Amino acid sequence: LDGSRRLKMFLDSSLNLLYQNILSAVSLSTRIVKDRKDREDKVSLWLDEFCRQLTEVINLPRSDLKGIEHQEVTDIEFLSSSSAIGEALAALKDRLMEELVDADLSSFPRQPQTILAEHFSGCWAQCPFCGAVCTNTMWNHDGDHQVVFHRPRALTGRKWHGTDHLAIDICSSAVASDVSFGVGDGEWIPYKRYRNAGPPYSNWNILPDSSMQAYWKWFVSHFRTQLEALYNGKFQGKGEIPEAWQRITKQEALSELD
Ligand SMILES: [Zn+2]
Ligand SMILES: [Zn+2]
Repeated sequence: LDGSRRLKMFLDSSLNLLYQNILSAVSLSTRIVKDRKDREDKVSLWLDEFCRQLTEVINLPRSDLKGIEHQEVTDIEFLSSSSAIGEALAALKDRLMEELVDADLSSFPRQPQTILAEHFSGCWAQCPFCGAVCTNTMWNHDGDHQVVFHRPRALTGRKWHGTDHLAIDICSSAVASDVSFGVGDGEWIPYKRYRNAGPPYSNWNILPDSSMQAYWKWFVSHFRTQLEALYNGKFQGKGEIPEAWQRITKQEALSELD
């Protein structure tokens, strides 16, 4: 995919998610407020509820909506009965999408990717087996590239030889095993002696370690279908995803990264 199509897809899915969140906040707020027979100021109540629902999604200060309370909105049903809000949101979403896609990145005084690159300066070398990024904070540093946690090899599309089974083991356990990898021309090199394959392999220091972050276990289970489609493979046979991985929640996976 070229850059602008990727940007479009990213914007599209981000906007869609936001749209769904707002829609569900609208209907939930209405449901809650409708049952409150004790209060007259239903619009205020509705707005309180609406902002509360969205706190984790967008920064929408309740005070920004003060103006609405003074408008003559008497029937709370009006706010949502209607699919009016839904329709207005959908139209807004489409318009935003069009504007964003046409946005000319060169109009930024500083390019977003430059800002990001500076922010994340350091070594960007990726493990040739799993794609994990070197953790050295110096660009062009001396010595080998290194990373504490490698990822399942399937993340770079590696499969078991002669099958379409994606490999879920990590490189740091592979270097302690009897498994080999192909380097083209039908040549096979044992992971144990991966440095014999020359650069980029020989520029990495991969220590034998079988510990895998819960995050990658969750990632592989969660994005299983997408990974299978992307690499035209299957998590089957030796690549079968363990049951325990599937039980890891997103919360558990993320909390490990803090
Ligand atoms: Zn690796
Ligand atoms: Zn490095």
